Amino acid sequence: MNAPLSAEDRLDAEDVKRHRWWGWGLEDVTFNWRNKPGFAPLAREVIGLDLHTMPDPITPDLSEHTVPASRLGEDARTALVDVVGEQNLRDDDEFRVVHSFGRSLPDLFRVRQGDFERLVDAVVYPGSEDEIAAVLRIVLEKDLVLIPYGGGSCISGSVTPDVTEQRPVLTMNLGRMRKVLEIDDTSGLARVEAGVYGPDLEEQLNALGWTMGHFPDSFTYSTVGGWAATRSTGMQSDKYGDIEQIVRGMRVVHPSGIIRTKAVPGRDSGPSVHEMIMGSEGRLGVISECTVQVHRTAPVRQVIAYMYPDWEHGIRGMHAITRSEVNPTFARLSDGPETRFSLALVKAPESTKSKVMGKVQDGLFAYLRSKGWDTKEQMCISYVCFEGTKETVEREKAVVKKIVAKNGGISLGAGPGAVYDQKKFDTPHLRDFLLNYKVFGDVCETGASWANLNEVHSKVYDAYYKVLADHDSQGFMFCHMSHSYHGGACLYFTFAVPYTDDSTALAKYYDAKNAVQQTFVDLNSPVSHHHGVGTEHLPWMVQDIGEVGAQMVRGLFADNDPGRNLNPGKVLEP
Ligand SMILES: Cc1cc2nc3c(=O)[nH]c(=O)nc-3n(C[C@H](O)[C@H](O)[C@H](O)COP(=O)(O)OP(=O)(O)OC[C@H]3O[C@@H](n4cnc5c(N)ncnc54)[C@H](O)[C@@H]3O)c2cc1C
Repeated sequence: MNAPLSAEDRLDAEDVKRHRWWGWGLEDVTFNWRNKPGFAPLAREVIGLDLHTMPDPITPDLSEHTVPASRLGEDARTALVDVVGEQNLRDDDEFRVVHSFGRSLPDLFRVRQGDFERLVDAVVYPGSEDEIAAVLRIVLEKDLVLIPYGGGSCISGSVTPDVTEQRPVLTMNLGRMRKVLEIDDTSGLARVEAGVYGPDLEEQLNALGWTMGHFPDSFTYSTVGGWAATRSTGMQSDKYGDIEQIVRGMRVVHPSGIIRTKAVPGRDSGPSVHEMIMGSEGRLGVISECTVQVHRTAPVRQVIAYMYPDWEHGIRGMHAITRSEVNPTFARLSDGPETRFSLALVKAPESTKSKVMGKVQDGLFAYLRSKGWDTKEQMCISYVCFEGTKETVEREKAVVKKIVAKNGGISLGAGPGAVYDQKKFDTPHLRDFLLNYKVFGDVCETGASWANLNEVHSKVYDAYYKVLADHDSQGFMFCHMSHSYHGGACLYFTFAVPYTDDSTALAKYYDAKNAVQQTFVDLNSPVSHHHGVGTEHLPWMVQDIGEVGAQMVRGLFADNDPGRNLNPGKVLEP
């Protein structure tokens, strides 16, 4: 083992980054449609949103809403302050509002509406595992509810208290615990505190020549503990694995003591306690530390874009890549509508180089049309990322180029791939932008076997557009395939639900979302591939894992937390 890395002083709660109270992140990043000439026409055509006639949005103001008083009693407050210090126990309005919602579309809608019927009563920021344990003792002693919190990026209702909860609710923000503690150079295993955010973690690892390789779209505002607690998947999972492959061991503060799962390459110790913690969404304890697999950063990294004439050709190409000898970091295929959407996000060319590239693209698309391609509706863009030595990258690119050609596609080279790679974490801001104009822009994702992938893809479209037609409403859906496995892949659907009336907006949204989720389980796909369960996906859990499976999970929660003090009501009731 290396010596522990130099310890930085703990941040105070005030300095742990948090979302703006009404939306994603804090940075001054907003979606700018004016420099993307294709965006406004597409929005007008598919969802009837005429941006040119819309006033500029007004920034929401928390002081316009009534925030109910905290229910945390003085006794409990004093006991908690004794553990973490006054500065790390926050019960002011903004902290309570931010921590009462994740970042799903219903969350964002409710928070903007000031729907604050039941907020968490205080937020505690422990600075060590001992402090977590001390807080948990107070929670049990005083019969409080505890909701662990990483980055609050969940989109499954997992950090929101039950509106009927009468006991005081405490959120535990792990954000002060953000250190890479130790790296085992030989095994490539890093011990990291659970509250570390993605960028902070990668910065600490990169400084020593390592990467964990886990990059969910929510990377900037999510944490290692949150990833493990929700079974997260990052965009580079093809090479680095899902979080359950990356997290090799854990320390968990459980009501009865510390659970330590050993950081081993594999285990056969009966039913896996490690796996029980994965995806438990705070119901079995607080993850204080993870030991994660890390890798030396690759000397060369390149993202290459490809184009296929349609989805079926693209899927055949993606499947062939999975079965080939190459090991891409990621391989992703957008369907026709998503490709159209991506092209609508291309910025107006400013430099001579980008103007020339624009002309080249126009010429290419005209050529493809002359060959019978439908470049508006059907054409599918794909990105494949290669990492390794120069030789490995060149060899793998050559193999993939041949596979793509064999499946009717063409290579577009590294230019579009580089643009995709730089912009990949900006998409969350689009959701806030659309909500300004009364449009829900949300996502649902699932997994499917290679044999079922096309059926799931087409039936989800049917289900969504039927609901929109029943509402006599326009809508737009698109999808990509990513996260490939030997047996199948993930399908990730993005969909818009425009609304006019705030009072019926959520009902319309849920009609669409529920139809999509129901189609997943009807076709033998899971409720979610990597977005967790929380309360949003809970209604399909019994259909997904069966009544007996659900009884086993309920038993696990009941045995470990008989008082229902740990994030009750998430994953499965009670
Ligand atoms: C725009 C957007 C894009 C997204 N993209 C992806 C994606 O690409 N891949 C993906 O996997 N997910 C994605 N998500 C979902 C979300 O980011 C993940 O679920 C993520 O793993 C949550 O991590 P977090 O740290 O924000 O956890 P939080 O949201 O704070 O918490 C989520 C759950 O985990 C529990 N929890 C958190 N920390 C701990 C801990 N230390 N111990 C015990 N329980 C804990 C909480 O109680 C809660 O139940 C996306 C979300 C959004 C809004």
